Amino acid sequence: MTDEKAPRKALETKSLHTATRLVHGGTMRSSFGETSEALVLTQGYVYDSMEAAEARFKGEAPGFLYSRFSNPTVAMFERRMAELEGAEAARATASGMAAVTASVMGQVQAGDHVVAAKALFGSCRFVVEELMPRFGVACTLVDGTDLGQWRAAMRPETKVLFLESPTNPQLEIIDIAAVAEIAHAGGAALTVDNVFATPLLQSPLKLGADCVVYSTTKHVDGQGRCLGGVILASEDFIQQKVHNFLRQTGPALSPFNAWVMLKSLETLPLRVRAQMASAEIVADHLAGKPGVARVLYPSRKDHPQHELAMRQMSGGGTVVALELAGGKAAAFRFANALQIMKISNNLGDAKSLITHPATTTHQRLSPEARAEMGIGDGLLRLSIGLEDVRDLIDDFDRALAAL
Ligand SMILES: *Cc1c(COP(=O)(O)O)cnc(C)c1O
Repeated sequence: MTDEKAPRKALETKSLHTATRLVHGGTMRSSFGETSEALVLTQGYVYDSMEAAEARFKGEAPGFLYSRFSNPTVAMFERRMAELEGAEAARATASGMAAVTASVMGQVQAGDHVVAAKALFGSCRFVVEELMPRFGVACTLVDGTDLGQWRAAMRPETKVLFLESPTNPQLEIIDIAAVAEIAHAGGAALTVDNVFATPLLQSPLKLGADCVVYSTTKHVDGQGRCLGGVILASEDFIQQKVHNFLRQTGPALSPFNAWVMLKSLETLPLRVRAQMASAEIVADHLAGKPGVARVLYPSRKDHPQHELAMRQMSGGGTVVALELAGGKAAAFRFANALQIMKISNNLGDAKSLITHPATTTHQRLSPEARAEMGIGDGLLRLSIGLEDVRDLIDDFDRALAAL
């Protein structure tokens, strides 16, 4: 895709604000000069000569080799995500779980030890608790909000600390800067799953984390279409821990999905801002209503870790946790009475979605493990979408009346 006749100036975006960089960052135009980023749906690339192929494989000439590890559309998405996060480097993956698995597995070998917060997305817990021990990597789970437990879990062979904040679904906040300090004091690295905060509301790398992962299936796509993930870190970290693991094992993001997400990044700030404004209104509206035991939302003053949340996040996010007093029966009656909000275990979508964690996403855990994580039978997770908030409020009032 080069054309010597028409060299095109790439926009220098470093000094620009986030919204501008999300429209222009990472763009690579082909010789056709397209306005909208091209979808380069190809597996491979052709070379002008055997010598050109040899030089490219030796790394002596720039260019793409094979779409399992390099593709122009995927590269544009990675570049734009890196600019958004303020990271030196990014690698896209086929799903959020591919990003979590590769980022953690890429850092360890048999004999190593990982410390992770208990309150993790179900599949992330499988990776650290069940998968890694099969390969000789030990794991200790801690209450992520208790810094003493993180410190006590550290061993000489601890290589990775892993957490999610706010947590799913009870929106607990973990002190990222403090955990990063504990990691570094023990010669380990901290990886943060930043899905719930989104890259707009929290920057784990600036708080001291070494690696950030996303399921871009959530707010980045934001319209419920494609699966995807991304790993962000320093150039050194990506080169040493991540790049070869992904290249050789192959959980590559499809160029089509990368293109959808690249275009979605253009509207990410608009969507997250609007969804968050509605989430704040919904949280305030539901708090104190008859039948409501409690509402958890990080930017509300009654959130148990409100101060910490506001220190490390610039907003409460797009998810609200609602605990009903009447347990499972009340939760089911409430959710079944909703007409606009849909019952689904996804989040970050333009459509508002409601989940009952105890019977869906966290069903496989024992009742004791759920209780330990604060996931009661009356807990509902509300992912607030882009509908007019007045219609959502009417929907909630209808559901409350059904209690
Ligand atoms: C959804 C999610 C994942 C997994 O992402 P997939 O794209 O579904 O593989 C990991 N962590 C968190 C916090 C999530 O919400």
